[in-house]
Amino acid sequence: MRPTTADSFAAAMSDIRATIAKAAERSGRKGSDVEVVAVSKTVPGDAVREALKSGHRLFGENRVQEAKTKWPALREDFSGVRLHLIGPLQTNKTADAVALFDAIETVDREKLAISIKKECDRQDRRPQLFVQVNTGEEPQKAGIPPDRADEFIAWCRSEVGLTISGLMCIPPVDEEPALHFALLANIARRNRIKALSMGMSGDYETAVELGATLVRIGTALFGARPPTAPVLKG
Ligand SMILES: *Cc1c(COP(=O)(O)O)cnc(C)c1O
Repeated sequence: MRPTTADSFAAAMSDIRATIAKAAERSGRKGSDVEVVAVSKTVPGDAVREALKSGHRLFGENRVQEAKTKWPALREDFSGVRLHLIGPLQTNKTADAVALFDAIETVDREKLAISIKKECDRQDRRPQLFVQVNTGEEPQKAGIPPDRADEFIAWCRSEVGLTISGLMCIPPVDEEPALHFALLANIARRNRIKALSMGMSGDYETAVELGATLVRIGTALFGARPPTAPVLKG
């Protein structure tokens, strides 16, 4: 894997931003309506430091423990960092997640919603909250099934008192992602949700055409990751 430098990261980002700008225009939006979450999972701290030197500030991690060991030092050296949790959250890690992250993109079940509310109140922190929708209804994947999404969002809002401002999905690898992005955009529209986190290195252009406001990009910025064990659902 090529080492990340501030220049190589900036060059990769600039290509991605150009692709996003064109895709956004095709859907009557502006490139500046879309933010890139640089997915730094498994990326060593030194490489993330280079990305930060290039000026980028929005990052995604999929494991609480990894973020906890990597990010406090980086945050001491760089101001304005925003960190999104994009992996499944177990309730026993909710306190750490609420303390560390500026957004939790993976709210997907009642017990977790209640636990997040409790920690937000206890710590007086208000991370932005996204509901993850399992648009492909894959049994091994986290997320609320699409036919329960409206009910779950309404319940989080009225019964738990959470502000749900975004939706997130990860389409099945072997299916046309556009169908899943369109489904997520529809759920967002009818629930008056503005933030849409969808699209990764391989499909972000399609996601932007269908309304993504956040794309989560790892490989296209940092290079290929070493193979890892699968992430278990929360
Ligand atoms: C790893 C990961 C990404 C980034 O995937 P790439 O294909 O490397 O861009 C995006 N979203 C989630 C939830 C991930 O776990």
